[in-house]
Amino acid sequence: MQFIDSHCHLDFDVFADDIDQVLITAEKAGVSSFVLPAISRGYWPRLIEFQKKTSQSHIALGLHPYFIEQHTKDDLLKLEQMLRDCAVVAVGECGIDSHCPQLELQQYFFLKHIELANKYKKPLIVHHRQSHHLILQCFKQVKPLYGGVIHAFSGSLQDAKKYISLGFSLGAGGVLTYQRAKKTRGVFQQIDLNHIVLETDAPDMPLFGKQGQRNEPANLVETAKVLAELRGCELEHIAQSTTHNCHRIFGI
Ligand SMILES: [Zn+2]
Repeated sequence: MQFIDSHCHLDFDVFADDIDQVLITAEKAGVSSFVLPAISRGYWPRLIEFQKKTSQSHIALGLHPYFIEQHTKDDLLKLEQMLRDCAVVAVGECGIDSHCPQLELQQYFFLKHIELANKYKKPLIVHHRQSHHLILQCFKQVKPLYGGVIHAFSGSLQDAKKYISLGFSLGAGGVLTYQRAKKTRGVFQQIDLNHIVLETDAPDMPLFGKQGQRNEPANLVETAKVLAELRGCELEHIAQSTTHNCHRIFGI
């Protein structure tokens, strides 16, 4: 059984000392391939290096709204150059976070990411936090043409359906392992499996029972098991469908 972690940050310093072991543990658990999104320009070169060294990894390049105060317009020019010249499977992560400053500037950067994704025929990896209305507004201004993933989706079934109608899939992460995440679990129970991908967001977003620990791609299988339980289907079916979805979305 094979799984793809569609969103993890294996290039972060916290993995530097034991990345080989992390990859072996993931492989043993059946997590054989990874998508690593970027958070700021400073991470782009190391992602490219990581991809060269690790054949089972794929990268996305973009500017995360957490670092909105660092990003410059020159970063967007550089991003365009890199999308043209490098093997990149998506644009991201990008998006809007209403807990971060400069919402208007965040929207400006996000719109630019959508334009670049369209121009270079790439899907988007979208970060959200209490910002579905703002993200959907941007999608109205510039229609994303190649879909992508709404990272760590949480929200209503109505929001989920809007994203799906725009060609997006929803990222199912560790939050599903928390009983109290009723609304999110309900959404992932109901939407078509064709629009779900699995992700850990490692080293962040620990699973239930593993709070305070570094998250790792191997833990993806726990989330997959919860998803299978919620949907009353075999784990194998979850593995096949979500892997197939990643192939379709990212062309990997
Ligand atoms: Zn992330």
